[in-house]
Amino acid sequence: MKIIPDEKKLEIIKVLQQKGVNRPCPKCNHNNFTLLDGYFNQVIQPELKGITLSGPAVPSVVTVCTNCGYISQHALGVLGLMPAGEEKK
Ligand SMILES: [Zn+2]
Repeated sequence: MKIIPDEKKLEIIKVLQQKGVNRPCPKCNHNNFTLLDGYFNQVIQPELKGITLSGPAVPSVVTVCTNCGYISQHALGVLGLMPAGEEKK
């Protein structure tokens, strides 16, 4: 089952390319990445002790180097890809 529809993936890839996200992997220098079929939504932690599971978060798309598995995240808000009404929750 696909989480991110193909049309949305194409839109994400197009925006990343427009932003100049086209360099090789910073760890192994390979050129092939895959777009994770889903999002990361990391919660901003208000303090260093413990883990907060809800609250302000940074939704992001994730690319993975297909050679070494290096993971890169790109914030949806900066890319202009946040769904309408989701900008400031
Ligand atoms: Zn790599």
